[in-house]
Amino acid sequence: MTLKVRVRFAPAPTGLLHIGNARTALFNYLFAKKEKGTFVLRIEDTDVERSTEASIEAILHDLKWLGIAWDEGPDVGGPYGPYRQTQRLSLYRRAVEELIEKGKVYKCFCSPERLESLRKEQLSKGMMPKYDGKCRFLEKEEISDREAEGLRPVFRFKVDRGGIAFQDLIHGRMSFDSTGMSDFIIIRSDGMAAYNFACVIDDHAMDISHVIRGDDHLSNTPRQILIYRAMGWSPPTFAHHPLILGPDRTPLSKRHGATAVSQYREEGFLPESLLNYLVLLGWSPPEGDEILSLEKMIQSFSFTGLSRNAPTHSLKKLEWLNSHYLRHIDKDRLFHLLLPYLEKEGIPAQQYDPTYLKEVCHLLRDNLTTLSQVRDYLGIFFDEKFYFEEEAQKRFSEPASRETLQKVLKIIEDLPEKAAGVHTSLFHQLEEKTGQKGKPLYATLRAGITGKMKGPELAKILPLLGKERMVKRLKKALELTS
Ligand code: GLU
Repeated sequence: MTLKVRVRFAPAPTGLLHIGNARTALFNYLFAKKEKGTFVLRIEDTDVERSTEASIEAILHDLKWLGIAWDEGPDVGGPYGPYRQTQRLSLYRRAVEELIEKGKVYKCFCSPERLESLRKEQLSKGMMPKYDGKCRFLEKEEISDREAEGLRPVFRFKVDRGGIAFQDLIHGRMSFDSTGMSDFIIIRSDGMAAYNFACVIDDHAMDISHVIRGDDHLSNTPRQILIYRAMGWSPPTFAHHPLILGPDRTPLSKRHGATAVSQYREEGFLPESLLNYLVLLGWSPPEGDEILSLEKMIQSFSFTGLSRNAPTHSLKKLEWLNSHYLRHIDKDRLFHLLLPYLEKEGIPAQQYDPTYLKEVCHLLRDNLTTLSQVRDYLGIFFDEKFYFEEEAQKRFSEPASRETLQKVLKIIEDLPEKAAGVHTSLFHQLEEKTGQKGKPLYATLRAGITGKMKGPELAKILPLLGKERMVKRLKKALELTS
């Protein structure tokens, strides 16, 4: 019988979804889809102090935005629910009782002060800090005395000496020695299950076949394997992928810049660009293609393409991918995506003809690396944002420019309304009457009409502006030259 693939993404809702976690979710999703398995979303919210509803909502929203859909989860339910750990506490309680009965777990009453001084003492002797097992051997009476005093214990898992090995799908065989390991806490004094414990109980209860997660959990895996052993369960298959690093080769964090999926969305990256970028970080598709749709990623995904070396974040690469996707985006979708950016910049979109707005957005498509960059070009198309850039003003200070501007103005004024926006007739006359060609002529024309030295093709801008606006702007430009 082949094992049915069931994987899970298990975020702790203590903040925004980090792009590194989104990448973990993506790998899980791709593997599930490739293997016709199930992708589960489980919310690990046992750190009640730091977990928030807002964060759960934001994580769900970001995953949906990326197009990473789960088959089972807190909102859609499923046969293995509930999918929030705080709703599964009775399951953990039962497991602890079983482990106590088996003599694998004990109550520990050591105070934080004792643990701290123990730690300091060990460090001063050059030893690795480790719990000394003081409460391992408490008598029943000692336990009930302490409980009668009102002391709340933590539950510790007994770590016996020995080796722990497992086969990782990315790293190969991994082996650990438990000698240096403390008896670790599985239930905290507030009664909440600690991560390593809740994770194992849930992965088992949810029939998870493969645990795909970041390298930062490699040190947790031996502890989790010990819990599997103690419960008499067989562990799932593990795959630990390297984390994304910043340019200084330390794990990507806020000090390197934006790390949250939502920050990239706000900046104006498309979900397909971000997904494509994330999948290429440390994974090479067998055919070597760089542009990959989600369907294509699913088809080609396998662990063999995943590198053991940590990838470095490259904003340049992400921008390159985003420019690519923007250049291929459908006109209506681009319009809808850009509308909030126009409004944010103070353009009252509802006061404009939607056809005009759509044409403007379409025309800007090739100039944008991110959607938010639309702000750099708004002055060209919206009078309320129009101004002459410093570079444009500098251009007008050249004496030849004034002459060119005057001639240009005259030609445009004399042209019938319709012809003024048609570059073939206009450019032809301009070249003939100014005796100029190429850059000197067109750079001045661009500066005079758009206020900028850069932007989309002039020939495409002019018909959108119309004669009246061109004349008005050229007159303003001439005022600046006098
Ligand atoms: N809640 C853990 C985290 O967010 C999950 C780790 C795991 O996948 O086991 O890192």
